[in-house]
Amino acid sequence: METKHHFKAEVSQLLDLVIHSLYSKKEIFLRELISNASDAIDRAQYEGLTNKELIEGSSEWQIDLIADKEAKTLTIRDNGIGMTEADVEQNLGMIASSGTKNFLKALQEQQGANAPEMIGQFGVGFYAAFMVAAEVTVVSRHRSKEAAAAVRWHSAGDGSYTLAPAERSTPGTTITLKLRDDAVEYLDEWRLKALVKQYSDFIAYPIRLGNEGKEPAADAEPLNTMKALWKRPKSEVKEEEYHAFYKHLSRDQTAPLSTITIAAEGVVEFRALLFIPAEPPFELLYDPSRKHGLHLYVRNVFIGSEFDALLPEYLRFVRGVVESSDLPLNVSREMLQDDAVIRKIRSNLVGRVLGTLADMKRDKPDDYKKFYLAFGRILKEGFHFDWENKEKLQELALFRSALADDNSLVSLKQYREAMPSTQSEIYYLISESIEAARQSPHLEAARAAGCDVLLLTDAIDQWVVDAISEYDGCKLRALDKGDLELGSDDDKAAAKKSLEEARANLQPLLDFLQATLTDRVREVRLSPRLTDSACCLVADADAMNATMERFMKAFEHNAPPQLRILEINPAHPLISKMSAMREANSTDPQLANYAELLFAQAQLAEGTVPGDVGRFNKLIATLMAGQ
Ligand code: ADP
Repeated sequence: METKHHFKAEVSQLLDLVIHSLYSKKEIFLRELISNASDAIDRAQYEGLTNKELIEGSSEWQIDLIADKEAKTLTIRDNGIGMTEADVEQNLGMIASSGTKNFLKALQEQQGANAPEMIGQFGVGFYAAFMVAAEVTVVSRHRSKEAAAAVRWHSAGDGSYTLAPAERSTPGTTITLKLRDDAVEYLDEWRLKALVKQYSDFIAYPIRLGNEGKEPAADAEPLNTMKALWKRPKSEVKEEEYHAFYKHLSRDQTAPLSTITIAAEGVVEFRALLFIPAEPPFELLYDPSRKHGLHLYVRNVFIGSEFDALLPEYLRFVRGVVESSDLPLNVSREMLQDDAVIRKIRSNLVGRVLGTLADMKRDKPDDYKKFYLAFGRILKEGFHFDWENKEKLQELALFRSALADDNSLVSLKQYREAMPSTQSEIYYLISESIEAARQSPHLEAARAAGCDVLLLTDAIDQWVVDAISEYDGCKLRALDKGDLELGSDDDKAAAKKSLEEARANLQPLLDFLQATLTDRVREVRLSPRLTDSACCLVADADAMNATMERFMKAFEHNAPPQLRILEINPAHPLISKMSAMREANSTDPQLANYAELLFAQAQLAEGTVPGDVGRFNKLIATLMAGQ
C-alpha cells in the first residue's frame, strides 16, 4: 500500500531553493548521486568486514548509469548498503543535521543575493536531483537479512513524497530521475562520460553506462579510471583531478589553495593527500559540531572520516585522505587516540601542513593572506595546544598593526626588522575591534616614538602573546599595562624628568582625584603615554585589560573586575584647568563632577560603558548648559 508523507519544513525550503536557484552548475547532481552510491558501497564493504553475512554472495561492487531517451529517464544504481524503510524516511524526508537549519537561516538572512554560490558550497546532496528532475523515484533494499523487502520512495519535489513496498531482487539502491525538458542533455552518452570524467573519475568502483534503457554490457569499459589519487605520484596527476577530488571530499566548490601529497616509507608506511581550502568549509561556518576529519583508508577499505586523532584540532580546516596498511582493519576511534602508528602519522602530517603553510607564506603571500583571514583564528589555537610547534606557529602568525593599513598584515619578523634601534620590546594592544584599537589613547606614545604596535582583536590573542612571550630577543609588551617607557635612554630620562617637574605642581590634583575616585581606581598618576588625550586607564602588568575581561565574561568565566590605574596627561589643557580650579577653591563642587567625567572618558576610550549612564548624561548636559 502506498502512503503519503510531507517533507519536514526544512526539506521543503531546501527543495524550493534548489529548484528555483539560478545555480548554474545543475550538472553537479550527477556527482552528488554518484558520491552517495560510492559512500553506500564503502559502508557495505566496511560493515562486511565484521558482518560477513551482509556481503555474502555479492557480485562485484558497481555503480550503473542507465539512460533512456525515449522515457526521458536517467537511472543511477548501486549495490551498496541500501536503505530500510525507516532509513529512507529518515534520510530522504528530513534533514537531521542542525547545520542544514543554520545554513537555511543564513541563506534567508542573505536574502538570496549569494544564494547560488552558497548552495554550491553547501552541496545539496541527494536533493540536487531536483535541479534536473521533475520526479524522482528511489527503490532501495538494505543488505541485512531482516530487510528482505524493498521500499519505493517517490516525489515530484512539491512538498510531499510517497512510500510503498517494492520489489528488488538484490540489495542496493536505484534512483530514477524523470528529467525536465531542459535537462535531457544528461541522457547524451558523451555528456555523461564527460561529467563522470570531470567529477567522479577517482571513485573507487566501476561506473558503467547503459544506453537506450538497456543494462550496461558486463564487459563495458568503466567511465572512470578508479585510480585512487593518493596512490599516484603527484607528477602524473593533473591539478583538475586533484580539485575534483577535493570537491568530492569537501563539497566546497572553490579550488583549494594548496594540495599536499605524502608517501611515507620507513617505520610507518602511509600515504596521504591533503588540501588546504581557500574558503571556510560549510560545516566550519554553520555546524562546527559536525566532525569532518580526514578520510581514513586501511588496505584500500574506507574506514571513516571521524578519526580526529589524525590531526590536532587547530588544523581542523585541512581536508584529505590518509591510507595506511600498518593499521588493523577493525580500528575504532578510541583505539586510535592512543595508537603509536597514528601518533607517528599525525606528527608527520602536522609537520607537512605547517611546512606547506610556511612555503605558501614565503612564495605566495597573497594566497597565504587569504588563508590566514579565513583560518588564522583556528590556527592560533595551536599556540595553546601545540607547544612543540610554537616556533613554527609564531612564524606563521600575522597581525594588523598601527602603522600598516587595514588591508595589510605583518609578521613578527617584519615587525622586528622595522623596529627603530631605540626600541627593545614588541608592543601590542588587545582591543575589541580594529576601529577601537586605532582610536585608543594608548597608541599615542608609541606613535610619538615612531614605534609600530600589533593590534589584536581575537579573543584568543591573549593566549597567543602569552605563548610567544618573546621573539628574537624582544619581549612582547602590552601597551596598556604597567609602567611604560619608550624611546632611547635619553628620551626615557627626559620623560622622567618632565614628569617629575609636572608632579611638583599637580600632586594636589592627583591627591584630590585619588580621594574622589577612591572606589573606582587603584591609583591616579601622571602618564608618560599620552600626547593628545587627557587620560587613560592602565592595567597592572599581570592583569587582564578591559577587552580580555569582556571576552572572559562572554565565555562565562567571570573574573572579578580589577581596579585599574587612571593616568592623566600633565600637558593637557583640561588637566591644567582642573588644577587651577582646585587652587582657586579646593571644595568647588564642579571639580568633583569633572573628576567623574574624566574617569568616564577614560572608560569610554577602553570601550567600557560608564557604570551609571544616567548620571553621566546628566553631568554632560549640565556642563553643556554652562551651569
Ligand atoms: P549526505 O550524503 O550529505 O548525508 P544526502 O542528502 O546526499 O546527504 O543523503 C542523505 C542520506 O541518504 C545519506 O547520508 C545516506 O544515508 C542516504 N543515501 C543517499 N543515497 C544513498 C544510496 N545510494 N544508498 C544508500 N543510502 C543512501
